[in-house]
Amino acid sequence: MTKILIVEDEAGLVTLLKYNLEKHGYETAEVMDGKVVMQTVLTEKPDLILMDWMLPNVSGVDLCREIRRHPDVKHTPIIILTARSEEADKVRGLSYGADDYMTKPFSVPELIARVQALLRRVVVPTKSKVLKVGTLALDYDKKLVLKEGEAMHMGPTEFRLLAILMEQPGHVFSREELLKLVWGDSVFVEPRTVDVHIRRLRRNLRDDDSELIRTVRSSGYAVKV
Ligand code: CA
Repeated sequence: MTKILIVEDEAGLVTLLKYNLEKHGYETAEVMDGKVVMQTVLTEKPDLILMDWMLPNVSGVDLCREIRRHPDVKHTPIIILTARSEEADKVRGLSYGADDYMTKPFSVPELIARVQALLRRVVVPTKSKVLKVGTLALDYDKKLVLKEGEAMHMGPTEFRLLAILMEQPGHVFSREELLKLVWGDSVFVEPRTVDVHIRRLRRNLRDDDSELIRTVRSSGYAVKV
């Protein structure tokens, strides 16, 4: 069961979030005291964290940073909940490692939709997970792609795109599926964007004749088994 940790000091909001998340099939845990957040994250090992930006004694920024630095929990997706609506604060929150951001008061259905989208797009890596397909190897922890043992350089979007393709070797992903999995629902991107990133991915892999990443006419893309 997918577990969501609610980090929030307003009891009313905790109750509301718990009720709605559980209604949608999620398991929940909560922590209201800023001082024990990190400890709770480490014991609960949640699949996603909803994080209040303004907690007594501690700030969401510091908590985000601390989570991102800890090897056991650094990949946990985080959505920040805040009363601040300044653009600069959003950018700050995201640059400290949050994945998404919601301004209070927010609509519960929108929050649920964002939780679902984030859980879909984040490929949750298990410890030291390495995927291998044909001549390719992808190391989640080291954020490294190897082709015949040689490291290939690529950006985060191409990395995520390749990871998704390699999770299900041979499976043909449609452009729409890839859009959802890589970019999520909250960002507006055209299906053609997928083609652009597939081109970049092939260039990064020096896959000139589409030997590694197959185009399946009118359907989508697949990694060759
Ligand atoms: Ca608060």
